Amino acid sequence: MPDTTIPQSWEARAEAASFFGFTDLPSIHARGTVVLTHGTGPYVHDTNGKTYLDANSGLWNMVAGFDHPGLIEAAQAQYARFPGYHAFFGRMSDQTVQLSEKLVEVSPFERGKVFYTNSGSEANDTMVKMLWFLWAAEGQPERRKILTRKNGYHGVTAVSASMTGKPYNSVFGLPLPGFVHLSCPHYWREGRPNETEAEFTARMAQELEDTIAREGADTIAGFFAEPVMGAGGVIPPSEGYFQAIVPILRRHGIPIISDEVICGFGRTGNTWGCETYDFMPDAVISSKNLTAGFFPMGAVILGPELSDRMQNAAEAIEEFPHGFTASGHPVGCAIALKAIDVVMNEGLMENVRTLTPRFEAGMAELAKHPHIGEWRGKGLMGALEAVHDKDTRTPFAADLSISERIANTCTDHGLICRPLGQSIVLCPPFIMTDAHMDEMFEKLEGALTQVFKEVG
Ligand code: PMP
Repeated sequence: MPDTTIPQSWEARAEAASFFGFTDLPSIHARGTVVLTHGTGPYVHDTNGKTYLDANSGLWNMVAGFDHPGLIEAAQAQYARFPGYHAFFGRMSDQTVQLSEKLVEVSPFERGKVFYTNSGSEANDTMVKMLWFLWAAEGQPERRKILTRKNGYHGVTAVSASMTGKPYNSVFGLPLPGFVHLSCPHYWREGRPNETEAEFTARMAQELEDTIAREGADTIAGFFAEPVMGAGGVIPPSEGYFQAIVPILRRHGIPIISDEVICGFGRTGNTWGCETYDFMPDAVISSKNLTAGFFPMGAVILGPELSDRMQNAAEAIEEFPHGFTASGHPVGCAIALKAIDVVMNEGLMENVRTLTPRFEAGMAELAKHPHIGEWRGKGLMGALEAVHDKDTRTPFAADLSISERIANTCTDHGLICRPLGQSIVLCPPFIMTDAHMDEMFEKLEGALTQVFKEVG
């Protein structure tokens, strides 16, 4: 007889009938799941009535918190007016038209064009297909290789996972051929003994030069980078990194794509991460903050040159045979228009700038702990890397699952933060107040002290 017993608790029901991704399954068997019912400001609440300060903004995306009235109203109004449409066959909603104009206006570019997807992964996937499409149309079909970096995160579709520089994708037999991963420009971890940061950056640039020579510039379709690596562990580039590599890519005619899925719309204190790091890409990839997490949506924003080249390539064969059913969804576009307004004009990006010194000071204070090797970050995103030995930067034994323990202890105390490698990541919503900051740092400090005591 099959077991037809229906589990009683929400926690058990979640595990029984849903498959969790990116979840340590043995750990949730032991600890249980968390089932959430609603959110207020930066807090989320579970089915047991427990409240958590979500210091990771959901998955980096709920930048306006979990109950922003203006965003809810924008969604409701658009659902009542026109609840769904596509962007195929020369038809699109008026909201889609307005969002494209707005995105081009606030983009790093003087002019450009926008293509919509449902997620960041699909936006990266779409950008790769655009590059393959336009190089082939221009008579260079062999230009197919994609350059990214180790620890870079670009998504989970077969192409965007191939771009992602994380070893876990080997379980899928990825990356696909033709995806080339350069070194991660993390000076603190990857710098050699006695190597200065400037020498490290020069080595990264030389590696790029050597890789292009080895692979052949005429086989490379494009280069993708996050201004600050997010899911790789919040890794800002070494000093002068983009200034060193961008001219090399330009010299070889390799398009530069800034994956702004996390950095875009305010996270680093400016609209774009490429603005913060002062480089000009050929296209940007946006998602997450684009709708403040209120709707699944991604966008490829092409700068002037790639817009023209794509237009010519598509017109030469009549169409660009690509698009999703919900590309440019009118409700998503209405929400994005409001989210951009809220972040850029209603003080949220300003709040990121105001809170950043307080955030940096809190992180620097925690980094004094004997088992914190480094704090790093930019704007309102940061990571604390745990180390067994601070002087030698030796990590804790992997079986201690140090960052998971810290994150679990935080969760017990009503704070959600994310373990990544041996680091703890904070990426709080832009609506944080000083009181929320105090609560976040107090709870995290309590968890760090408790866990480091437990592991001796
Ligand atoms: N690019 C970056 C930089 C990201 O951080 C993410 C998601 N964390 C993605 C792409 C993929 O986005 P999605 O999960 O919406 O597919």
